Amino acid sequence: MILRKTLSSLVLMLLYGCHLHMAKTVMNGGDLEAALPEPRAYIPDSQNLDFVYHDHEELTRFLRATSARYPNLTALYSIGKSTQGRDLWVMVVSSSPYEHMVGKPDVKYVGNIHGNEPVGREMLLHLIQYFVSSYTTDQYVKWLLDNTRIHILPTMNPDGYAVSKEGTCDGGQGRYNARGFDLNRNFPDYFKQNNKRGQPETDAVKDWISKIQFVLSGSLHGGALVASYPYDNTPNSRICRSSALCAMFQTYSAAPSLTPDDDVFKHLSLVYARNHAKMSRGVACKSATPAFENGITNGAAWYPLTGGMQDYNYVWYGCMEITLEISCCKYPPAYELKKYWEDNQLSLIKFLAEAHRGVQGFVFDPAGMPIERASLKVKGRDVGFQTTKYGEFWRILLPGYYKVEVFAEGYAPREVEFVIVEQHPTLLNVTLQPSKRIEGIGAGGPSYYRPIPAPQHYRPVPPYVASASNDNGIFSTISNGLNSLYSNIFG
Ligand SMILES: [Zn+2]
Repeated sequence: MILRKTLSSLVLMLLYGCHLHMAKTVMNGGDLEAALPEPRAYIPDSQNLDFVYHDHEELTRFLRATSARYPNLTALYSIGKSTQGRDLWVMVVSSSPYEHMVGKPDVKYVGNIHGNEPVGREMLLHLIQYFVSSYTTDQYVKWLLDNTRIHILPTMNPDGYAVSKEGTCDGGQGRYNARGFDLNRNFPDYFKQNNKRGQPETDAVKDWISKIQFVLSGSLHGGALVASYPYDNTPNSRICRSSALCAMFQTYSAAPSLTPDDDVFKHLSLVYARNHAKMSRGVACKSATPAFENGITNGAAWYPLTGGMQDYNYVWYGCMEITLEISCCKYPPAYELKKYWEDNQLSLIKFLAEAHRGVQGFVFDPAGMPIERASLKVKGRDVGFQTTKYGEFWRILLPGYYKVEVFAEGYAPREVEFVIVEQHPTLLNVTLQPSKRIEGIGAGGPSYYRPIPAPQHYRPVPPYVASASNDNGIFSTISNGLNSLYSNIFG
């Protein structure tokens, strides 16, 4: 079943020290993708979905009608309700919409986390329509839906959207949820303690991503044109505290805060930017706003923020999420939506295909049974990830030699080396042996198990414990105020 789609498999026998393992490279991912023609242009059918903004009732009606029309390609579920009781709808688009496909990755898009940035919301509705209407005619779409389970949350902040105004390019009206919270500042933070009260929308998303092991994710925003990657926060964003001017300077020229997967995040961001009609040109939206080289930026280098969704996805669950700022104007007039679709169509599709790059596989016990919640960490990349209940894991990696450490309770830890090539993902199955029972000294003596490292999900020690005091004081307040002003203007 795992290798159902395998056309051929190249078996590499790799001997490292006393460890023997096999790394099979399969062709059910990138290889096939590379051989496919580019996705075709979408022919909008205004009877189903026009290029206009859809309010919550219209959005709900479209999703319901689509799931009724395409029962074999879609599944509609709600992850919870907004503060004002609107459903947070997720549409799954896949050839296996109701069930996770063992060995195949789950990916997601989240739109409209800021209620007044609804271009992403409409792009995601059109993406759904594009997928279902192209599945039988477009080889690329068929490959993607046959090999990926795509979860689309078009609006994470329907209440904010309800009070936003079309044609408003800047400002904060509708940005927040109904209680006035910025949902992209409402997640637990790795670098700094986040004391903001958890909101229903954020809690729903946290619960969602704790249940599905998402490999790759994009969060859609407006107010700039750039693909921004983790970290959004930084341990040392408030160094310059001698004056208000200094604080402002610091805000406008923050240092990058890079993850151990920086090469991968840059690559993912470039995939989006380069497949976009304009983003990679790096032209500033306005003369007073920054121009981003190649259309990408590190989040903290642009401006640091606490409680963002992308850092949470990555640090807590190993899900590679980036933030896609897709329109200079936050809420442009509806007649521009068609143009935004044309600019983003290829990016939205090609980005998701990146889930098929890197290493994927299973962790088994000696009887061949999957080991759930085994912890994995690629050496030198100190943000871990875990296996699913089927023992599956995925990690997006660029070509090279890697070593992965695998831990599970009751098993001896293992280190396995593997190779990533450009053309196709590497399939790596790891078998763990139970920890060895060591007989006690002397007859009848106690037996005990050799201690093994704690099999917990690996996460580096939160640095905010040590640096919490850096955040006090009036200049920090000023700096924070400027940061929120800054993010109201952009993003
Ligand atoms: Zn935003």
